[in-house]
This record gives sequence, structure tokens and C-alpha cells, in this order.
Amino acid sequence: MGRFFGTNGIREVVGENLNARFVAGMVGAIAEVVGDSRPMLVAWDGRTSSPAFARIAAGTLSVGGLDVLELAAMPTPCAQYSVPRLKASCAVVITASHNPPEFNGIKGIADDGLEFTTRTEEAVEKAYLEGRSRTVRFDQVGSIRAETGGIERYLNGIRSLVDVEAIRKRNLRVVVDCGNGASATTAPLQLGQMGLRYVSLNGNLDGVFPGRSSEPTEANLRDLVASVPATRADLGVAHDGDADRAVFVDDRGRFIPGERVLTLLAREEVQHAGGGTIVTPVTSSQSVEDVVTPFGGKVHYTRVGSPVVARAMVETGAIFGGEENGGYLFPKHQCARDGAMTLAKVLELVARTGKKLSQLLDELPPYFLVKKKVACPIPLRQKVLSEVPSMLDAGKDAATRVVTLDGVKVITPKGWVLVRPSGTEPIYRVFAEARDPKAAEELAATTLSKVEELIRKLQGTAP
Ligand code: MG
Repeated sequence: MGRFFGTNGIREVVGENLNARFVAGMVGAIAEVVGDSRPMLVAWDGRTSSPAFARIAAGTLSVGGLDVLELAAMPTPCAQYSVPRLKASCAVVITASHNPPEFNGIKGIADDGLEFTTRTEEAVEKAYLEGRSRTVRFDQVGSIRAETGGIERYLNGIRSLVDVEAIRKRNLRVVVDCGNGASATTAPLQLGQMGLRYVSLNGNLDGVFPGRSSEPTEANLRDLVASVPATRADLGVAHDGDADRAVFVDDRGRFIPGERVLTLLAREEVQHAGGGTIVTPVTSSQSVEDVVTPFGGKVHYTRVGSPVVARAMVETGAIFGGEENGGYLFPKHQCARDGAMTLAKVLELVARTGKKLSQLLDELPPYFLVKKKVACPIPLRQKVLSEVPSMLDAGKDAATRVVTLDGVKVITPKGWVLVRPSGTEPIYRVFAEARDPKAAEELAATTLSKVEELIRKLQGTAP
């Protein structure tokens, strides 16, 4: 993990670590590492400081000798979609995704539309720390032009990949909660273009996020959950701050955990393609494997993080991928988490099957995923991890499998448990899944207390 770049780009508090000088320095470093004769794109989300930082980014690139195409306030996947289509060398996106309003950040998109690789991020950080950023002579300054077709091109691309006629005929009603984030620039437009009737919540761009917090969790989506049955809608959808994720509420007003939608979409894609590979992190539900196997599908597991999932999808030629947090990737569209593409696919599924979303979800195998966390000092992190297998008695039973791709996952016939250090916080996360909620809770609680005991023991003996 880099010093500035986290799992999904740089995120810092505005006015503290994130200021004009930092943005100019970091964007100058990006120009040094990936800049060539092609133009660079600049896009931004709806945060209060985003237009300002975007202009600083554009100016830095221009005086560095690069041509700049300024896109607009838009979802991150919309900016990603533009990069290969405008034959750009990269996009700099000013966004802090779902973080609280005091944050902002920088995301780097490579020329293939995927997020920067770790190697590129490390090279950029090195260039930043060395202060490598240049200003060219007056006759070599790059141009800055507005490129206004990005949203239109993106929504047209999505419509071309789904059965719009079937969606239109079903006469669906949708409640969309943009959370005052970047989807305000695309989601109402997208629904209108597909001929849907919709109710919009928090549908104006506002960087203070007055409507709700921009992370689409169940606790933050109470208005959406209440609005779906109240308006007799077929479903509700909410996006995070930069709209690369989509989270759903069914027609009965139930908040749907991300792993259920992942399972539903995985089955649909595999069934439709007659097989294929699904890429998902080790934190995902067993139900994905259960539903795709009968249709000849395979699951390829990765470490946690959407850039890792996206790269693995390219390498394995996967037909679909996603994470349990509502980030889903459709490679025919692009190998990037995409909230608008996900919404279109869910609408198509409901329209094609003629079923209610609640019905489709209730047909899936029942699994219950419980997530817990425990504080763990970072110096103890590795030690805890090395003791987890013996602590869980992993491998004692022939039917048990141990996976150490990211943390330690122990899979038994009754369910699985995963103990994994967070990449960003001094905590351990415990995931447990079983076919009934009580068993999942018990598995999580037992494992959690074992990890707590282990940490206490190591703290006591630690020098
Ligand atoms: Mg996001």
C-alpha cells in the first residue's frame, strides 16, 4: 500500500493535508509518470472544493505541456468510460467517493479506463516526494478545452447494452436516491431516457450532503426504504458519492445487502452467457458459487479492492465481477465499478423475468453474512494473522479448506469465517457466513472472542 494512495485513490481532509499545493504537486507527478503526447482528462464530483481542485489540476497539466480536456461534474465510471474513447493517456478525477463532506481526493485512471495499478501509484508517489513536476516554456503550454459530451456518450453506451424496449414495456416505477452526489448528473436523466416513471430523492448536486451521508448503508437510506412502498414503486436505488456503486431496496421496502444483488447478477450473467468466470473478493458469499456452478460458471477469488477485481477480470476474461458493498463490473461495458450500468441491468432483469425484485431475491439460496470488527494495534497485525489458523483449529477436519489470499478464510461444510486486517484502519474484520442467521451470528461471535483473546495475549507478552 502506498503512502498517499489507499484502496481507491487518495483521500484527505480539505484544508488539512489536501490543499492547492498538494493537488498541484500530485497532479504534476502524475503528468511526469503517465504523460505523453495524448491529452489528459480532468473530471470531478460535486464536493464543494472539487471545481477548484479540478481547475488546479487542469492548469498544472497545461503548464506542464499537456493538452487537457475538461469533462464535467460526473460519476467516476463516466470519467473512466471517456478515457479510451477520447484516446487520452489518463484521467485525473477529483473525488472522495462516499467519504464525509470534509474529505476530497484524487483518483488516477489509466489509458484503458481502469484505475491506476499499484505500480503506477508507487511511481507517482516517488515523483511527488522527489518534487518532480515541470513548467514548460511559453510556446509549449498545453491547451485546455471543455469536452461536454461525456455524460451523453456514457448513458448511450449503457442503453446499447440492455433491452430498453423490455424495460419500457414493463412500465416500472423507481425511487432513486442520489444522496446529493455525482449521480445527480446522470441517474434522473438515465431513468427518463429509458421511459421510466421515477421519484428522485436528494437529486441535486450538493457537496455538503444535506440529504444523507454519501455512504449508501442501510442506516443512511431510511428515507429511500420508506419511500419505495409509500409510492408503490417496483424498486429503490441509491448511489454513493461518486456513483460507482448501486444499492437496492426491493418492492417490499427491504434494504438488500450487496452480496444478494451480486449473487442475482452473477447468476443472470452466467446463465445468459452459458458459463464464464465471475471475479469477486474472498469476502463474498458462498451463494455466488452455488448459483453459477449449475450453469457452468466458475468463481475466481481475489484480494479485497475494486482495482484488484478489475485487473483480475481482464486477466481471466471474466464476464462479470463485483463486491459485497454494491460495486459491480460489467466488462462488455467497462471493467470498472459502475452504478448506472448496474441499475440498467437490474431493471432489465426485473423487466425480462416479469417478476418482482423481492421474488427474484427470495429465490436465491438463503445465506446470512455477519460482519464484525475488533481493534488491533498495527504492530501486532502480522503476528495475529500467523496465529489465526491454529486458533481456529483450521485443517483439523478433512472437509475444511483454508484460504490465505487475503487474511485467513476457513471454509467448512457448515459455513465459513474470514479474519482479515483492514487495509486502512487499526482493526481486524471478522466475516462469518452460514445458511441460517443464528449459526452465522454464533460463528462470528465465537471467532471474534477468539481473536480478542489472541490480541490480549499478544499484547501481554509483547515487548
Ligand atoms: Mg465510490
